Amino acid sequence: MKKNLCLLISFIFIISLNGCSNGKNKYYEKSNIVMDTAVTLSAYGANSKEAVEESFKRLDEINDMASTTIETSDIYKINSLSGKEYVKVHPEIIKMIQTSIKYSKLSNGAFDVTLGPIINLWGIGTDNERLPSDEEIKSKLPLVDYEKISINENDNSVMLKDEGMAIDLGGVAKGFAADEVLKIYKKYNIENGLINLGASSIYALGKNKDKRDWSVGIKHPRSEDPNEYLGVIKLSDESLSTSGDYERYFIKDNKRYHHIIDPKTGYPVDNGVISDTIVVDGDNPDNGMLADILTTTVFTLGQEKGLKLINGLSGVSCEITTANYKVYASDGFKDRITDINKDFKFTD
Ligand code: AMP
Ligand code: MG
Repeated sequence: MKKNLCLLISFIFIISLNGCSNGKNKYYEKSNIVMDTAVTLSAYGANSKEAVEESFKRLDEINDMASTTIETSDIYKINSLSGKEYVKVHPEIIKMIQTSIKYSKLSNGAFDVTLGPIINLWGIGTDNERLPSDEEIKSKLPLVDYEKISINENDNSVMLKDEGMAIDLGGVAKGFAADEVLKIYKKYNIENGLINLGASSIYALGKNKDKRDWSVGIKHPRSEDPNEYLGVIKLSDESLSTSGDYERYFIKDNKRYHHIIDPKTGYPVDNGVISDTIVVDGDNPDNGMLADILTTTVFTLGQEKGLKLINGLSGVSCEITTANYKVYASDGFKDRITDINKDFKFTD
């Protein structure tokens, strides 16, 4: 958890936090660990406290339905009854699964929420992380297939067709959660604020207290110094998401095994990408969820196919950093980055 908090502080900095606090523009900020992530929510507005407090409750609710480990969660139930029964779930779970399937199709399976059995095998980021044998991975791979998720929209129920299959929403739930927080902010007429669910999902609402765009630092994927960034991006009414091989990993025999898995091989993605950042325009419906899904997808696709995917989507842009510290940017993205760290070279 400590690591998470450091990450949070290192990833993001807000130009001058303490804004004016007259009644209409009251500033409220709160941090907590939710969904295994250091979350900081800040808001300006007459109802900023109510908005932030209600948002934290909502995050707990989402965690309670989407967690793979809480026995009463929808996902736990779907996984326990795989190959046996349909399970009635919250409509939010259907939405996350359906959106995930859409991007699985678009990416030819680079994103796949049915990676659960493989993710469990590796246990990366848990006390049980280990390097599984080739045989173990081969035996679980046939269970990974988003086409074997069966959804009955009439009664919001889901079944995984084969026994042993398992859904893991780790690449989508935080983005979905950021969208839900934004809905609560809007309900309370919050026009300015920062929704920060760790590096994986940030929404910059309106402007900061100086009436400027929010400045967000993109983490240097290899620096131990929490204040060292790859660069800084200015955001207003946009979602940002970053995925990196430095977030959860272990090293064995000089090789890094991280938490983003290639559904084709069952091994951590090994295509030269070490991090990527996606920005999605706030006009895009479900932009937080989209940004979250796309970071994982682009990471898995690699720089060439990833850039092609992003350049074909409207209101979406990205950067992809590779192990040789080259940064590949989609159309127009480079112009938005300032304070580019001298370690990195932007390449067209
Ligand atoms: P992110 O940090 O947003 O890239 O999400 C990574 C998380 O998503 C992992 O911790 C897994 O729970 C899950 N995941 C890993 N690889 C994939 C993949 N290829 N497709 C979908 N989800 C994945
Ligand atoms: Mg993601």
